[in-house]
Amino acid sequence: MGYEPRFGQSPFAIAREQAFEALVKWGGYAELIRLLRDQLAVPVDEAGVTDLTEVGGDTNPARRAAETRSLLARLASGNDERLILDRPLLTLEVAGQTAYLEPQAVTHRVGGKFYVAEIRSFPAIDGQTNPTAVAQTAKQAAVSVLALRRTFEQLELDPAQIAHEFLLICPKDFSNRPYGRLIDLRQELDALRFQLTRLRRADDLALALPPSATLDTDREEGELDFSVGALDAFYTPGCLSFCEMARYCRDEATACASPARLGSTVRNTLPGVDSTRTALAYLGDIHAPGLTEAAAVDRLRAADRLRQLRRGDVA
Ligand code: SF4
Repeated sequence: MGYEPRFGQSPFAIAREQAFEALVKWGGYAELIRLLRDQLAVPVDEAGVTDLTEVGGDTNPARRAAETRSLLARLASGNDERLILDRPLLTLEVAGQTAYLEPQAVTHRVGGKFYVAEIRSFPAIDGQTNPTAVAQTAKQAAVSVLALRRTFEQLELDPAQIAHEFLLICPKDFSNRPYGRLIDLRQELDALRFQLTRLRRADDLALALPPSATLDTDREEGELDFSVGALDAFYTPGCLSFCEMARYCRDEATACASPARLGSTVRNTLPGVDSTRTALAYLGDIHAPGLTEAAAVDRLRAADRLRQLRRGDVA
């Protein structure tokens, strides 16, 4: 549609992450096993690992997901078998669609729990890590934990066997020596469950489209534009960090002066006001607000007065 996404890791960052992951898994996963021993205080020297990036040479996601489920069923219902799953493929229903998720590893049962492990190349300096990078990794780990719990429920196994902490592995200080730390995910899991209940199903969204609508990217730009324009968008600046449609939706939000273009805080402060042009018209007494907008307009007036006071425009 003429809007190239401008986000994602640089090739250098991707190469660095891959090299660090290879180091953690080098020598029969020696570093991963050492960190599991350090952080989870169990003897795991003899742990085996199954690489699930392929199944008998087959990289098909459905096949990998089926193999992951069958191994999880075996590990969770049997005796304590010390098998670590490398790159398992999990599924999660998101808005009526099946999403595939690939955590870097899932441990064998440790003290009655299975743990997700994530390997990242940002460093831990004196035990301190970049909070933004950790928060982002925690969100991803929470999705894997939720997917694991749903898989256990479907297999009629106890989902409480999945730990609510994950093992973050990153380089220690300025060396490449792997460092591990357990991070609590309860807050992220609560937020994620809430967000998933609010997502609208793709099938329901499609009902709003005319029969001729298409989302086929090989079709004419105008046809695509028409179909996408028929769907409601809920753009906020946060979209820029994860969605390929962000620049398209940002232009659309700018064109219709959506308050959400300025961020979700502004949008939430102005319930009932769907355009910043309308908000300015209320402030300039060009239009009178209705009952639903009155509270938002009162807040705007108070903010406007504060701004004028700070600028010294009001005595
Ligand atoms: S940019 Fe935001 S509003 Fe647009 S499609 Fe992506 S998530 Fe939805």
